[in-house]
Amino acid sequence: MSSAPEIYDVAIVGAGPAGSASAIHLARAGWRVALVDRGTFPRHKPCAEYLSPAAEPLLRDLGVLDQIAATRPGRLKGFRIYAPDGTYFQGDFAATKDTAGASLFETGLSVTRYHLDHALVQAARAAGAEVREGWRLAQLHYDAVTTQRTLVPVGDAAPITARLVLAADGLHSTIAKRLGLQRESRMRKIALVAHLRGIADLSEYGEMHVAGRRYVGLAPLEPHGTGDLCNVALVVDEARDAQALAGRPQEFLLAALATFPKLKDRIAQVTVARQTLATSHLCVHARRLSAAGVLLVGDAAGYYDPFTGEGIYRALHGAQIATTVAHAALTARDTSAAFLARYDRRYHAALRGKHQIEQIIQLAVQVPPLMNHISAIMRRRKHMADTIVAVTGDFRPPWAVLNPAYLLRLVM
Ligand SMILES: Cc1cc2nc3c(=O)[nH]c(=O)nc-3n(C[C@H](O)[C@H](O)[C@H](O)COP(=O)(O)OP(=O)(O)OC[C@H]3O[C@@H](n4cnc5c(N)ncnc54)[C@H](O)[C@@H]3O)c2cc1C
Repeated sequence: MSSAPEIYDVAIVGAGPAGSASAIHLARAGWRVALVDRGTFPRHKPCAEYLSPAAEPLLRDLGVLDQIAATRPGRLKGFRIYAPDGTYFQGDFAATKDTAGASLFETGLSVTRYHLDHALVQAARAAGAEVREGWRLAQLHYDAVTTQRTLVPVGDAAPITARLVLAADGLHSTIAKRLGLQRESRMRKIALVAHLRGIADLSEYGEMHVAGRRYVGLAPLEPHGTGDLCNVALVVDEARDAQALAGRPQEFLLAALATFPKLKDRIAQVTVARQTLATSHLCVHARRLSAAGVLLVGDAAGYYDPFTGEGIYRALHGAQIATTVAHAALTARDTSAAFLARYDRRYHAALRGKHQIEQIIQLAVQVPPLMNHISAIMRRRKHMADTIVAVTGDFRPPWAVLNPAYLLRLVM
C-alpha cells in the first residue's frame, strides 16, 4: 500500500533572492516549506552584483549580513554616471540626511551572487525550509477539488504537492509562462557580465558608462584599496549586436569596453577573473501577479532593465509583501485567485513609481543628446544627482524625482 504524498503548505520554485527570502519568512512563521531550484549552490549568475543601500537592513533581517560581510564585499559610496560625451556626474548616498542631519545610508554593497545566493539558501535551510537542489520544474497541475498545486520535475525526482506555490523562478519564469501571466516586451536586450581585474582608477564609486545606445556598469567587488576585482556588466540591443557577439561574448565584451570614452584608456591591463556570462530578453511584464494557488515573486513578477541595479532589493522587498499575503491566505485556508489578488494591489502600490523612473532612465540611455544634457544639469545641481541615487538606492520615495519641480529642472 503506497502512503499518501506529503502536502507542503508552500512550495517555492527558485532559490534566488526572492525564493530564499520567501522561504525564510514562511518557515520562520511555522509553515511547512519546500524550496526547489534547478541549480546547485553556490553558483554564478549573470548580474551586476550591486545591492542598493536599502537592501542591507533586509539582509540583516534575513540573518545573512554577517556571512556576507565575512566574504569581504565591495562597498560603494554612490555612483558616477558617464554620458556619451565623456562628462560624468556623481551622486553620493551619504548626501541624503534624516531630520537630525545624519546620513540615512553611507554605502551600498557589492557582493557576488555566488556568495549572496548561497548565504540565502543556507539561511532558508536553517530556518526550516526543505531545500531540493538540482530539481527543475517541468509542469504545474491544479486540483480544483483540493485547491492544491502539484509541481512535476524534469527527470525522476518526486513531485511536490502544496497548498500554495510561490513562483520565484526568475525572468523567464516557467510558471508565469504556463499560466499565461507573463507577456513579452518589445524591448530586447542582451547582457554580458564578467569579473575583470586590472581596470585602472577604480574608486569607491560604482560607474555607469553610456554610449552608442549601450551601457556598461562597473562594480568593484573588493574593499577599496585591497584588490581590484570588478564586476563588468554590458547591456546591448539584441537587434543590433546579437549576431556580432554570438559564440564570442568575451571578445565582444572586451572590444566593446574600448568604445566608451572614459573607459578605453583604463583597460590596457585587464585580465579575466571569471568567464563572461550572457543573458537575454531582460525585460518581461506580468499581466497579473497571482492566480489560484500561485503568487509570482521577484523577477517572475516582472523586470525592466538592470541600469538602476534594484532587482535584488525588489526581490527581497517583494518577498516580504508576498509572504504577508501567503501567510494570511494559508491562515484563512483561502488560496483562491480572488483572495490572492490583494498581492497584486500591494505590490503595484509599493513599486509602481520605480518603474516609471526606470522608463525615464531608459529613454535617456537611448537618446545620447538627452543623456549629455542631463549630465550637464546634474553636474551643475549636485543635489539632483544625490536625489536620483537615493531614489534608485531605494531609500527615498519615487516622488522625490517624479514631481514637476525635479522634472522641470532636469530639462531646463
Ligand atoms: C545583467 C543583469 C545585471 C543585473 N544587475 C543587478 C544589480 O547590480 N543589482 C540588482 O539588485 N539587481 C540586478 N539585476 C537584477 C537581479 O539579477 C534580479 O532582479 C534578481 O536576481 C531577482 O531575483 P529572483 O530571485 O527573482 O530571480 P533569480 O535570481 O533569477 O533566481 C531564480 C532562480 O530560479 C531558478 N529556476 C528557474 N527556472 C527554474 C525551474 N524551471 N525549476 C527550478 N528552478 C528554476 C534559477 O535556477 C534561479 O536560481 C541584474 C539583472 C541582469 C540581467
